[in-house]
Amino acid sequence: MAVKVCANCNEKVDENAFICKFCGAVHRGTGEELAVTANEKHSRKGEISFIVALIVLVILAIVLMIKQ
Ligand SMILES: [Zn+2]
Repeated sequence: MAVKVCANCNEKVDENAFICKFCGAVHRGTGEELAVTANEKHSRKGEISFIVALIVLVILAIVLMIKQ
């Protein structure tokens, strides 16, 4: 009974669920990165996810620079 986190609304959904029961985002495959179809209602959350991803990338870049 594994669960995954919806990339669109960040709710826990069944790993085998094809469509998120919270926001209706379509999950293609069960990979670590969910491919979701953005829902207009949740576009703001999608933007936040994008900003969070950018911040993580910046932190990773800084960590890699420090290691050198
Ligand atoms: Zn969702």
